[in-house]
Amino acid sequence: MFYDPKKIEVLLDEETLSKRIHELGAQITADYAENPDIILIAVLKGSYVFLADLARAIDLPLSIDFLGLSSYGSSTKSSGVVRMTQDLSKPIKDRDIVIVEDIVDTGLTMKYLLDNLQTRQPRSIKVASLLHKPARAQVEVPIDYVGFVIPDRFVIGYGLDFDQRLRNLPFIGVSVDGGPPYP
Ligand code: 5GP
Repeated sequence: MFYDPKKIEVLLDEETLSKRIHELGAQITADYAENPDIILIAVLKGSYVFLADLARAIDLPLSIDFLGLSSYGSSTKSSGVVRMTQDLSKPIKDRDIVIVEDIVDTGLTMKYLLDNLQTRQPRSIKVASLLHKPARAQVEVPIDYVGFVIPDRFVIGYGLDFDQRLRNLPFIGVSVDGGPPYP
């Protein structure tokens, strides 16, 4: 096994994630029913699993683009410095955009992203974040679709990494002793 189950506490299991993501998908489907053809913009790398499940829970024509941002080194503390590591492949002018993010923690990454994308003059921008950790907020950012509000703990799995590993855990958990939960 690629991780040690004894070292990980499960916070959100597969069934809980799936149920909530289907609810978010239904909400987005209803909100854009009059005006489909949205672009889901996924923030790499952490949101790739959420994107895959959310996109399939939305019953509308849509397209997908990716953007790479990095605010973390190899430690588990935010540096507060946001860097774009990969830009979108197409312009978004006059389009309806939904940003798909894994987690809003301090909010600094989302603030940077919203400011950056606004300058490209989309018709609308909304934010979908699987997780929200309000205890650590440093700036207020609007989140239109929130999966789960979670306590101030460093979470891993379902796209979120522990030092670049464990993104392939099918659930969201925390390391019980704070150390690497793999051999
Ligand atoms: P923020 O700028 O809101 O502080 O952080 C946003 C980014 O930091 C997220 O997209 C994510 O990549 C990373 N991050 C924040 N909190 C966590 C966490 O609990 N676990 C992991 N693995 N990454 C996190």
